[in-house]
Amino acid sequence: MAETQIEWTDATWNPVAGCSIVSAGCTNCYAMEMARRLHAMDVAKYKGLTRRSGKRTVWNGIVREDADALAIPFSWKKPRKIFVNSMSDLFHERVGDGFVQKVWDVMRATPHHHYQILTKRPERMDLLLRSKIPDVLPNVWLGTSVENEDVIGRVDYLRHVPAAIRFISFEPLIGSVGAVDLRNIDWAIVGGESGRSARPIREEWIDEIYEQCTLHGAAFFFKQWGAWGKDNKRRSKKANGREYRGTHWDQMPKAAVGA
Ligand code: SF4
Repeated sequence: MAETQIEWTDATWNPVAGCSIVSAGCTNCYAMEMARRLHAMDVAKYKGLTRRSGKRTVWNGIVREDADALAIPFSWKKPRKIFVNSMSDLFHERVGDGFVQKVWDVMRATPHHHYQILTKRPERMDLLLRSKIPDVLPNVWLGTSVENEDVIGRVDYLRHVPAAIRFISFEPLIGSVGAVDLRNIDWAIVGGESGRSARPIREEWIDEIYEQCTLHGAAFFFKQWGAWGKDNKRRSKKANGREYRGTHWDQMPKAAVGA
């Protein structure tokens, strides 16, 4: 829970620690390496959540609910956009239904904040919201991550989830998503992968998403190229920058402008 460098939010809040890999977009998950470092720094919440696999650090499958973290949003008096679980996935199968309900209670009791929940498990999100969390909170944005066509089915779960705002993070974009159907989707974030093992992004894959945003009236946010530039050459993330079609794209969902 902290101020963050992530361009589309103001703060992160992590009521859960630990996760497990679910699809290709997770391969270079920054949270695994961050959890290893926090373990080395003796941060109790992140103790023993990862293991070594060859030269890499990966999750070991332990997922920890952090009840103490539930108090944090109450201490933030100034309204913020809060990315929920930047270090995990709230809808991981090892997070109890009751704990997810407690997270919802916090969000309901702090309507001055906007919460952005991003999951790679939208099927569980859909199930839980329909069965155990009946109210649609106006300050909660629900999203899913889609890195390539293999996981495009996540969009259909998201489209039918009851939510004030629905969004998709196409990051890291590592393959084409074709003419992805963005009906009933409010916002698309697009970005390339960073780091030593980053996989390339292609401008034509971004074009496909941009065109669907235009067609369906979804806001478009281009976060970064990452390690690979539009010329398909590798250089620093900073050098590649955030420009697409000659400008920066920082659109936010229409229903949330001013949030
Ligand atoms: S779901 Fe998110 S936090 Fe979990 S392994 Fe994948 S990228 Fe990392």
